[in-house]
Amino acid sequence: MPELPEVETVKEALKKKLINRKIVGVLLSYPKLIETPTAQEFVHQIVGETIHNLERRGKWLLLELDHYYLLSHLRMEGRYVFRTQGDDMDKHEHIAFILDTGEELRYKDTRKFGRMHLIEKEKVWNLPPLIDLGLEPWDAHLTVSYLQKKLKQKIIPIKTSLLDQSIIAGIGNIYANEILFLSKIKPTKKSNQVKPKELEKIIQNTRQVLTDAIIKGGTTIRSYESSEGVHGRFQQNLFVHGKEGEPCRYCGTTIQKITVGGRGTYYCPKCQK
Ligand SMILES: [Zn+2]
Repeated sequence: MPELPEVETVKEALKKKLINRKIVGVLLSYPKLIETPTAQEFVHQIVGETIHNLERRGKWLLLELDHYYLLSHLRMEGRYVFRTQGDDMDKHEHIAFILDTGEELRYKDTRKFGRMHLIEKEKVWNLPPLIDLGLEPWDAHLTVSYLQKKLKQKIIPIKTSLLDQSIIAGIGNIYANEILFLSKIKPTKKSNQVKPKELEKIIQNTRQVLTDAIIKGGTTIRSYESSEGVHGRFQQNLFVHGKEGEPCRYCGTTIQKITVGGRGTYYCPKCQK
């Protein structure tokens, strides 16, 4: 599942090809992909718009157009591919943006969980989904006292709180597992019982883990510009995620897998007491 670093990687890859390109037509084969406005309005409004910039907020990809922002969430399997205009649409390609270059930017999603919104520029920050997002990991307002305030009423596991996009935007399951391992915090610890020193470690490790992953994505970006499409997935150097039964790289104890808030959770029982 794409998390913040993967979306950042996709954004950078798409930027090179999309800035200053005009959308001259749209082929939409799966209308449910469009959350707002209606599919018909979406197509009507976006045709004729030029792409001026690409941004990211949490796990949302933002395309800045003349009058609108196109928001795209890749969810589980979403990716972007470039095709030549008129190429047959693959059954997993749900929308094609026809560009003024004769190329088509297509959104491909085998699971069909991804969603798009087209929202007027002046309203985009004050409406869902962006208004519901918490701080970016590198925001200077992300401090121990910010987290204390957000977590003081929460008795849910800290792991679950890290996945809450209204607290810190962009952390998904893989990096939540890694951040808690590096911070030496047990994933099931109640959110309101995490100490200030531990919150400080969470902030530091969140920034560290996500920065490392973005750098890694950047170095391997070329392979995602092939016909396989831009999905931002890359070989990750993970300590605990997916390592059930393997020895902890710090202490040798066997990594355990449990379920926390319905999500696969990996941790070292000795390092994360
Ligand atoms: Zn360990």
